[in-house]
Amino acid sequence: MRILITGGAGFIGSNIADAFVARGDEVLIVDDLSSGRESNVPKAARLVKADVRSPEARAALESFRPDVLCHLAAQLDVRKSVDDPMFDADVNVVGSLKLLEACKKVGTRRVLFASTGGAIYGEQDVFPADETHPTRPMSPYGVAKLAVEHYLSYYTVVHGFRTTALRFANVYGPRQSPHGEAGVVAIFARKLLNREVPVINGDGSQTRDFVFVGDVVRANVLAIEKDLSGSFNVGTGVETSVLELYDSLRRAAGSDIAPKHAPGKLGEQMRSVLDARLLERHTGFRPQTKLDDGIRATVDYFRSTDV
Ligand code: NAD
Repeated sequence: MRILITGGAGFIGSNIADAFVARGDEVLIVDDLSSGRESNVPKAARLVKADVRSPEARAALESFRPDVLCHLAAQLDVRKSVDDPMFDADVNVVGSLKLLEACKKVGTRRVLFASTGGAIYGEQDVFPADETHPTRPMSPYGVAKLAVEHYLSYYTVVHGFRTTALRFANVYGPRQSPHGEAGVVAIFARKLLNREVPVINGDGSQTRDFVFVGDVVRANVLAIEKDLSGSFNVGTGVETSVLELYDSLRRAAGSDIAPKHAPGKLGEQMRSVLDARLLERHTGFRPQTKLDDGIRATVDYFRSTDV
């Protein structure tokens, strides 16, 4: 297949690109390298350095005529989305629409979209949340992801697309940037290895569903292979507190550094955990990587690189 991956120089996108290349697919990556790195791009894939909103990205899509668009490029800083909702919507909503219109023009009908569980459901009523949980985004980022899911459904109903939105939990693993605001695993791993003191916002009892990037990659490949359509959670169903996560990281890094605590962040959810059994029923997907194993692989990665 010809697969165009936006954001394919980033953390999740480049791991997905590796998997499609290994399957023998022809992969084109469109990425503006705003947070991604050229060194993440697999040798067998081609990179077009362009913003998804630009005429260059549109031209790349139109000449490649992909069988599948795998759309991961995004403005993904939740706090930035609160500070500048216009910019967030421009990249995350208008940028996505530009790609979908280009797909319509060249006859690309298969679309995979990187959506989000936590930011779409907001503060949960039940734990874990399945796809029928009310959506109450607490940030413009979450609103934009949900809006794109609605657009996907419109392109499906009206233009005959086949679209899949995968609502990721908290993804972690090799190649995640330790320099952004998000990505607590990468940030803490890098700090512990540098013998710096990590800072936990709040008392650390807040929980998240940490899913290893290898499992997220498999969900994407299965979505294509099983011709999946609709919105699906991708998570482990296991709730882990930030303190438990910290302990796992400390063991993997062989560190005895105690964390510092800062005041909790306003608007941050207390508990977030996803039920991915719908995806399991449709594809047989089950996360395979246990937290301690995934954390060890991630810490080993950060040990082997100076990122
Ligand atoms: P990342 O920052 O590593 O990857 C994003 C990539 O998109 C980067 O390579 C960046 O350079 C590129 N990019 C950003 N804006 C662009 C633009 N306007 N045009 C072209 N390229 C652009 O982040 P990631 O964690 O790999 O996230 C990938 C996707 O998964 C995003 O859509 C994100 O919202 C979604 N997601 C991630 C998580 C998580 O826990 N990491 C959870 C839920 C959803």
